[in-house]
Amino acid sequence: MIIIMEPESTQEQVDKVVKHIHDLGMKTILNKGVVQTVIAAIGETSKYSTDQFEILEGVRTVQRIQVPFKLASRDAHHLDTVVTVGKNIKFGGDNPPVIIAGPCSVENQENLLAIANVAKECGAKVLRGGAFKPRTGPRAFEGLGKLGLEFLDVARKETGLAVVTEIMDARDLEMICNFTDILQVGARNMQNFTLLNEIGKTNKPVLLKRGLAATIDEWLLAAERIMDKGNTQIIMCERGIRTFDNKYTRNTADIAAIPVIKRLSHLPVIFDPSHATGKWNLVAPLAKAAVVAGAHGLIIEVHPEPEKALSDGPQTLNFENFRNLVKEIDRLIKVLAPA
Ligand code: PEP
Ligand code: MN
Repeated sequence: MIIIMEPESTQEQVDKVVKHIHDLGMKTILNKGVVQTVIAAIGETSKYSTDQFEILEGVRTVQRIQVPFKLASRDAHHLDTVVTVGKNIKFGGDNPPVIIAGPCSVENQENLLAIANVAKECGAKVLRGGAFKPRTGPRAFEGLGKLGLEFLDVARKETGLAVVTEIMDARDLEMICNFTDILQVGARNMQNFTLLNEIGKTNKPVLLKRGLAATIDEWLLAAERIMDKGNTQIIMCERGIRTFDNKYTRNTADIAAIPVIKRLSHLPVIFDPSHATGKWNLVAPLAKAAVVAGAHGLIIEVHPEPEKALSDGPQTLNFENFRNLVKEIDRLIKVLAPA
């Protein structure tokens, strides 16, 4: 439920409305605009009629939030959420797109450092790399586990890049939190509700990938679950979805999801052209399309020798292609900047 205060309402009146909502056992989100304050009541609002809030002093009007996700909804929180990683990496709002780059899987220290150095030199701010890999077959490379986290930590210290790595099992949460700046929830775990609940209790930024066949509502409800437990630092990540046509691409890149999320939610949204296409030569065109569509960042798989990568080689850029792409993205960002 959204409670819109009169432009001339006093702080005392706002406080009273907030207290009233809390007394009824609901949470609030406060949006103090230039003109008026908007209070979102989150909880079992269906138990109450809008009249019960409309009669409070200073209240102009009360509306129900129509979407199933409330905390993630732009109705509840009009301004963009900016997720800050480390001291000055900012996802969301009017900040320029943040580039995340790195191998699909952490393979060894030397290889990871080489990639991290190129990523940094090209202006990436975050190093990606899976230590715990979700693999369809049981005999595929499943990552180096804790050793992979340690390699990421060395690369982080040497380059100053922030780190994002995937978590698959809530039992690893404490360990992974000690090594990473952002927790990645992979597409296959977007509906691992126990994992989402546990991540919600931390204050680590979360990169929440869209499930392989998740609707936008389901994806936002996954974000809602994390937010409901207290963690509001969520970066949505579109990575392509399953459709009937997988002959030429691994997934179908849903570029429209970027502006859709920006309209429905205040959370930042980034794009993963590597998993969305599955083909290295489609990564650049789709990365550029996503930036034009308003993505707050890109997460790109990079490896010195993609043909030798232990996972996702076919969709991975080599250094030269990555350098070229970043140059093109930089040019695009300049063109897109407000005049
Ligand atoms: C990955 O980022 O390497 C990965 C496994 O991604 P997704 O969960 O999108 O498939
Ligand atoms: Mn991958």
